[in-house]
Amino acid sequence: MDRHPSLSCVAFWFAQRGCHGYCPVKKQKTASANSRLDFYVPYIEFSNKELALRIMQFVWPYRWYLLPAFLCMLTLAATNGAIAFLVQPILDKVFIEQDKVMLASMPLIIIVLFAVRGVVYFSQSYLLEMVGQRVVRNLQVRLYGHLMGMDLNFFQANSTGNIMSRITYDTNMLKGAASSVTSNLFRQGFTVIVLMGVLLYRDWQLAVVSLVGLPAAGTLIYHFGRRMRLLSRVRQELMGGITSHLEESISGQRIVKAFGMERYERARFRLLNRTMLTNNLRAAKVRALSNPAMDMIAGFAVSAVILYGGQAVMAGTTTTGTFFSFITALLMAYDPIKSLTTINNQLQESLAAARRIFTVLDLQPGIQDAPQAQVLPPLRETIQFDHVCFRYREDLPDVLTDIHLTIRAGERIAFVGHSGSGKTTLVNLVPRFFDVTAGSIRIDGVDLREVTQRSLRAQIAIVTQDVILFNDTVRNNIAYGDRHHRPEAALRAAAQAANAMEFIEAMPEGFDTVIGDRGVRLSGGQRQRLSIARSLLKDAPILILDEATSALDTESERTVQEALEHLMEGRTSLIIAHRLSTIQNVDRIVVLRDGRIVEEGTHAELLAADGEYARFHYLQFKEREMACQPPL
Ligand code: ADP
Repeated sequence: MDRHPSLSCVAFWFAQRGCHGYCPVKKQKTASANSRLDFYVPYIEFSNKELALRIMQFVWPYRWYLLPAFLCMLTLAATNGAIAFLVQPILDKVFIEQDKVMLASMPLIIIVLFAVRGVVYFSQSYLLEMVGQRVVRNLQVRLYGHLMGMDLNFFQANSTGNIMSRITYDTNMLKGAASSVTSNLFRQGFTVIVLMGVLLYRDWQLAVVSLVGLPAAGTLIYHFGRRMRLLSRVRQELMGGITSHLEESISGQRIVKAFGMERYERARFRLLNRTMLTNNLRAAKVRALSNPAMDMIAGFAVSAVILYGGQAVMAGTTTTGTFFSFITALLMAYDPIKSLTTINNQLQESLAAARRIFTVLDLQPGIQDAPQAQVLPPLRETIQFDHVCFRYREDLPDVLTDIHLTIRAGERIAFVGHSGSGKTTLVNLVPRFFDVTAGSIRIDGVDLREVTQRSLRAQIAIVTQDVILFNDTVRNNIAYGDRHHRPEAALRAAAQAANAMEFIEAMPEGFDTVIGDRGVRLSGGQRQRLSIARSLLKDAPILILDEATSALDTESERTVQEALEHLMEGRTSLIIAHRLSTIQNVDRIVVLRDGRIVEEGTHAELLAADGEYARFHYLQFKEREMACQPPL
């Protein structure tokens, strides 16, 4: 039976929207490959021991902070024991026997005791916080570094929000284990042990009586902890969903507004939040229940002690001071014992976060450099596709079948075909964003899998329709990826050749103008020209143009096309174009259908062949003619 119906409902929403979170209520060890939702982040159940050991690896470098922290905690526990211990001499010596020396010395002892308590309390909590914060920082840096090494498949299969919540939310949840849990667990644990010592020392029989509630307390702690762990696991999954939703709907505001989907998005957010609310209330119930439940048990224990101890004082087998010292120690031990239940709850939350973090850290990128990978020298002769087949996943059909193609250095080659025919996939294989499923791709005879990804990608510049710019200055956006730190003159030359100089200089601060998140302050054509300038500066021998001008109006297209002409000069260019008019002068056109090459040749040859390309050409020609005709 599904214990979280509301959660499956959210998973359903995600699935419907094609939002690639992953199924949070999976029970099996690895997720099924059928569902894209959980393909890349399978649910793996680590044992608590395993998790603890892995957290320890992050804590271990800071053991020299932890050692004094533990000593402080021990001292703190000892001062607690001393306070309970002192009740006996205070009652018996000061109040009953009226000992003057004791009366004079007790306040002093108590002041010193509390001063020591203050110092060690401060030291242990600050030291632990230092460790906790550093562990979080290291985890975040490690996670981020790991994510940067993941292949594109991972980012396509997991939503941005989900990935972001791992780095921000989960690592901070885990900090609970590294600082507050450790602090409470050890501090309260030591205190309980010391106070137990006082209890046994004062009256061991009474101490045994006071333990009546222990089995019940243990059962409760275990039960509440388990429940909390489950609930916090669900909460963390939901948190990923909420971050995802925010990320998508905020960055996609234009589309949301254009399609009038505000209400839909609000409803979706409300649903997510309602599920979160239900889950949080369940957790709050467990937390709120654990206190009174423990209080009841404590009530029984204290009653038993008063009954048994009161009888002993009346019978004269023990003194009032000893009894009160005992009861003080017992009451003082109560709070730490009670907090152990909360610690367990917190610990379970942290372990749930740790599981999510380590699952990601354990993922191996699908594309890695071979052990003996060599540096690829600059392209001299050919890029060869040798009977290449490709599928995105084992369980999906081939997207490319038996692609056999040789591209000569300096050649301009265009790929044409219906949407979904495999053009983008084909060009994405060249920078090794994905690995071929069968066959091979070779540059000057060297298989791409035998060279370092860095040296391969250094040779390739990509200009896509969807330009990615950063919220930085124009200068830094153009110089992004310029590993050679070329001089200012080169940067300006690139901007000039990209037809971007005019609008850059018209900006308030020229090259130093910050262009806003993803370049929102620029027009589509301007963004495109900046990205062309970036590629010009990179000066890579291979160029991939992915529908670079298809989203632009005719005027922008003309300036961008001009910039592209400059960019293509002297480079091997792989071009995907929707508008056939832009590729009439390329050296060769390759027509794809359902992942296969069906035609190949120059514009004129293909028109003469009167095949698929000619049909495309005719259709586009017709469209343009219709668009030009005056309305009837
Ligand atoms: P084109 O660029 O010609 O429009 P694509 O190369 O984008 O075609 O897509 C070819 C096929 O691969 C399509 O059927 C598309 O649905 C599929 N496809 C593209 N990307 C992925 C992906 N990340 N996972 C699974 N299938 C994909």
